[in-house]
Amino acid sequence: MSPHTILVHSNSLCVKLPASFMHQPKRKSYNVPIHKPYSCHANLTSQLQVAMTNEVTDSASKKIIWPSPNDETPFWTKDLPSCNVSMDVPVAVNKDSDLVHIAHVTAELAPIAKVGGLGDVVTGLARACLSRGHTVDVILPFYECIPTRQITELTLICTYNSYYDGNWVPTKAYRALISGIPVILIEPSNHFFKGQTIYGGSYNELEAYVFFSRACLEWMQVTGTQPDIIHVHEWQTSALPLLYWDMYHNLSLKKPRIVLTIHNMEHYGECRKEQLSKSGLDGDVYATADKAVDDRTIGHNPERLSLLKGGIVYSNAVVTVSPTYMKETLCSGWLASTLIKHRDKYNGILNGVDTAIWNPATDIFLPAQFNAERIERKKICKQYVQKGLGLATETITSANDIHVVMDKIPLIVCITRLVPQKGLHLITHAIKHVVELGGQIVVLGKASDGRVEREFKGLADLHKQGPSIRILLMYSEELAHLLYAAADMVLVPSVYEPCGLAQMIGMRYGAIPIVRKTGGLADTVFDIDDHSNHEISNGFVFEGIDEGSLNSALDRAFAYYKEKPDEWKNLVQKVIKIDNSWNNTAGKYIGVYNSVRAR
Ligand code: ADP
Repeated sequence: MSPHTILVHSNSLCVKLPASFMHQPKRKSYNVPIHKPYSCHANLTSQLQVAMTNEVTDSASKKIIWPSPNDETPFWTKDLPSCNVSMDVPVAVNKDSDLVHIAHVTAELAPIAKVGGLGDVVTGLARACLSRGHTVDVILPFYECIPTRQITELTLICTYNSYYDGNWVPTKAYRALISGIPVILIEPSNHFFKGQTIYGGSYNELEAYVFFSRACLEWMQVTGTQPDIIHVHEWQTSALPLLYWDMYHNLSLKKPRIVLTIHNMEHYGECRKEQLSKSGLDGDVYATADKAVDDRTIGHNPERLSLLKGGIVYSNAVVTVSPTYMKETLCSGWLASTLIKHRDKYNGILNGVDTAIWNPATDIFLPAQFNAERIERKKICKQYVQKGLGLATETITSANDIHVVMDKIPLIVCITRLVPQKGLHLITHAIKHVVELGGQIVVLGKASDGRVEREFKGLADLHKQGPSIRILLMYSEELAHLLYAAADMVLVPSVYEPCGLAQMIGMRYGAIPIVRKTGGLADTVFDIDDHSNHEISNGFVFEGIDEGSLNSALDRAFAYYKEKPDEWKNLVQKVIKIDNSWNNTAGKYIGVYNSVRAR
């Protein structure tokens, strides 16, 4: 098939980025009136930066305007200019000698189009590869809900037509810089990607992403862009490998090779043959066991396709997000047979944390920034969150009093999408048990299912005035930063977890992880009582999916916190220093890119 494109054009479109594009403009300074309850961050940050070497002092704590639940504006919503962070990673990163051009094609990108870990991973991996000298573009739908104030250097670079269901849809491509990362935003003129949320708009999501997959290749073709690697993610962009090898590679795109990362095997991109046909491919051709048929539907009438399976078959390399999840997926689930068949190109690479976005020593959302050496300042964050949410605290009369109060009440946070995968029954049980143990718990979660939403709303209302429990049913990047910084412990009781970022981010912010032993949690958290692993022990691990198993981990964590304060402090310092950054694992992705690229 020959796609008839009308290129209205763009100048310097496909050439390498100019140097100026690679540098993040300086963050704007923001002056907010000091008397507003939420203004204390900016003010405090500069004051506290000066005093970075000091412990918590009376004077430092007095300078804080403590928030309260009665504030007109909740303490985590303040008028920050953007979530932009500098591209400069504050560690020496060696440049690679053999450089690769990578184009990520993704449904999410943190922080502007993030729903879960996928967004974090694309941003973190892209930044890590840029730091190592590689050329990286991220291609993202231009969702209507993207806050354009968080985008810099937004420029329309190209208007072109992309095929969909018998028509050529006028489509715009913009170049922009988001958190220091070069991004191409694809904006079709039809109704796709309109609405106030990333997912769940009033258009057919599967068809929108199939369109997007082709629109990315079409953009590459009309502009002559030929990256070494097109890196697709999840089912949403898994039609791209099919479109590439069976259509665009027969046209002018010869150089790219395709890498697929599966972040979560729960969603397969279930697709009717005619839906795939709307991309211009013949859906019937893919309805075979060795291509993209959904094996669970073989013999049904009609059979369905799975975009994710097609992506696995058609990509040059497939990666999933932790070694343990890789083993798990080879042993269970209907895709196991396909993965076993393609075992030679299947890799398990642990995700990293984006240390530019997640850095307690520079985090602009915190009332006090800290690191392993300035651990006392974490207590300001804890006190700040406790006060802001109206959780029980005691009056501060001096620095010593802060110390005593903080050591008495452990604060646990659980920051998660509220879906069954995350162990909902264990989260609701933890809410009860933590309080029985004399602690405090804050759940920050967003449910997509109405029944789950109602259940947690009931709990939230029940406890909203109490001293120990807060359940906040929303998505808030700012509050997530504050909670990780405030927390003594971070709870991740997932039934299964491909990698999990919450435990790694939590550790970076000095929160001790309490996790279920599964997937990437098993690869990153090692039980404190496992004496054979003392060197790497860093948290509390349980295995069962029952309440008793969770209780045993919580009980041990609370006992450790209360009975061994010095050891606890050492543990907090130890976990802050653990390097779970992309600097550790990006090299493995580069290895995969190099193993498949065309020379
Ligand atoms: P998943 O990708 O399955 O959602 P991960 O642990 O890999 O889980 O990544 C979750 C990411 O989303 C983390 O950065 C976490 O802090 C963030 N997150 C999850 N829920 C919320 C929320 N309600 N508000 C803010 N951030 C959230």
